Amino acid sequence: SGRLEGKIAVCTAAGQGIGRAVAEAFLAEGATVYASDLDAKKLSGLDSLGTAHVSGLDVTDKAAVAAYLAGVETPDILFNCAGFVHHGTVLDCDEAAWDFSFDLNVKAMHRMIQGLLPRMLDHGGGSIINMSSAASSIKAAPNRYVYMASKAAVVGLTRSIAVDFVGRGIRCNAICPGTIESPSLDGRIAELGKSVGGAQKARAMFVERQPMGRIGTAAEIAHLAVYLGSDESAYTTGTTQLIDGGWSL
Ligand code: NAD
Repeated sequence: SGRLEGKIAVCTAAGQGIGRAVAEAFLAEGATVYASDLDAKKLSGLDSLGTAHVSGLDVTDKAAVAAYLAGVETPDILFNCAGFVHHGTVLDCDEAAWDFSFDLNVKAMHRMIQGLLPRMLDHGGGSIINMSSAASSIKAAPNRYVYMASKAAVVGLTRSIAVDFVGRGIRCNAICPGTIESPSLDGRIAELGKSVGGAQKARAMFVERQPMGRIGTAAEIAHLAVYLGSDESAYTTGTTQLIDGGWSL
């Protein structure tokens, strides 16, 4: 039987990229998955892979999150994946850009966790997995000012929850990927391609900075998420799990 048999998982931003791969892996390992995304259409097909409950959800909408959480079973696993990559330095980040990134990348996790944690505690505990990035407090990447600031905040949020609830059955860990194949990476490559003479050249530039000579896959992140969600990682909490192909070496 699957490694997550009998577990309930709640996953945000499960429509594409890493969130999608994790939701698929959770289903394949036997979990019941409450999968949401800003764009509900992107969730199509998940329900053919197992017991999936799919819904549109904007995690920056406080009222929508509260209504959504009232309708989900108490999870054993909460995977907070939603996030946005802002480009530029401090000089390119106005207040609106700052607020948007922190609202989506950090405060949305706060909303999801605050909404579910009391129920998870009553239920005897659970595993919370937060999406950070190697580009956070770990590895400095150029032109990722508010992205790095917000993903570093995710590390602090994660460790705070881990220390406060370690005696009550809650584990909380952060995943810190390097560069991972995803629709949004394709978008960033296409954008860079406009200024460097084509998407192929831009992709080569992304690959060039990877010590392994390739970009990671969402499935590789999903393997880690399955581990963190399962009882195999029962002694692991408060960690920042770097999975970056050696980028930060
Ligand atoms: P992506 O950016 O391609 O897709 C993001 C998904 O989030 C989309 O389906 C989108 O509809 C959804 N979304 C956007 N705003 C939302 C909102 N307000 N509420 C709910 N859903 C929303 O996916 P990705 O590149 O795999 O990124 C997923 C997460 O992983 C992000 O937090 C990102 O910062 C992080 N991450 C990605 C990489 C990478 O290289 N791809 C590296 C490190 C960290």
